[in-house]
Amino acid sequence: MRASRVYLALLMLFMLGLVACTPSPAVEGKKTISVTVSILPEKYFVDRIGGEFVSVNVMVVSGADPHTYEPKPAQMAALSDSKIFFRMGVEYEDAWLERITSNNPEMKLVDLSEGIQKLPAPAHEGEVDSGEGLDPHVWTSPTLVRSMAGRIYDELSALDPANEPLFKANLVSFEKDIDALDSDIRTSFENLSNRRFMVFHPGWAYFAKDYNLEEIPIEIGGTEPSASELSSLIDTAKAENIRVIFVQPEFSTQIARYIAKEIGGEVILISNLAENWLENLREVALTFEKTLK
Ligand code: ZN
Repeated sequence: MRASRVYLALLMLFMLGLVACTPSPAVEGKKTISVTVSILPEKYFVDRIGGEFVSVNVMVVSGADPHTYEPKPAQMAALSDSKIFFRMGVEYEDAWLERITSNNPEMKLVDLSEGIQKLPAPAHEGEVDSGEGLDPHVWTSPTLVRSMAGRIYDELSALDPANEPLFKANLVSFEKDIDALDSDIRTSFENLSNRRFMVFHPGWAYFAKDYNLEEIPIEIGGTEPSASELSSLIDTAKAENIRVIFVQPEFSTQIARYIAKEIGGEVILISNLAENWLENLREVALTFEKTLK
């Protein structure tokens, strides 16, 4: 039958067309978003939300001081692939911002510390508080990190809407971990007999604020204490029955060791720059629980 032959031919053409129009199976690898962060804990935050869909370039390398950091040429080069720079509001960012943005003008700047009511940075005795010195260590507060996680989720979802459900699930899981951390710390700090602690580099004020502790800094404004400040710190430590001086591995421990010797106490290392932020805060909380009881 002629009609059926025509029909068959049309059908075959139609099917050929279907084959031709079917997209070839995805052979390229997973699409990843490149972002840059300032400090290692931020890498942890972004990894928790973005998972394998995000690759993170960290500016302040392990062991370096984020207040005075100078990015290496290779790091500046790596910036050029980044879609977003998640700032944390630490000082080196301002000093390098112009070079960072001229290196990659397309890159979006997102300051995770934006909108946070910052605490004043510790000031020297008798120094007039100009209101300019603000404490940048906001990432030591689980509550504040919880809201930063939400911002990271918003930004990654805007860049990669197809993976939004996954980012959402990761956010929920991270929030759960933060809530558990927060409630465990609250429970473990309930019966502390001493809520004041002495630390060389004042990097824990936001953590202290969350949990009703008080940080007594030795280093102020990035400088060591004067002789009179040093002797008053020793008096305070003795009066408050402080037996532990906390130091951060990124900073000098000499003065802390001197004070510890004067009060017959010890020096303990804690850092707010460890990459595994969650595990690190658990360890730090445990150290506080043991030493402030
Ligand atoms: Zn610091």
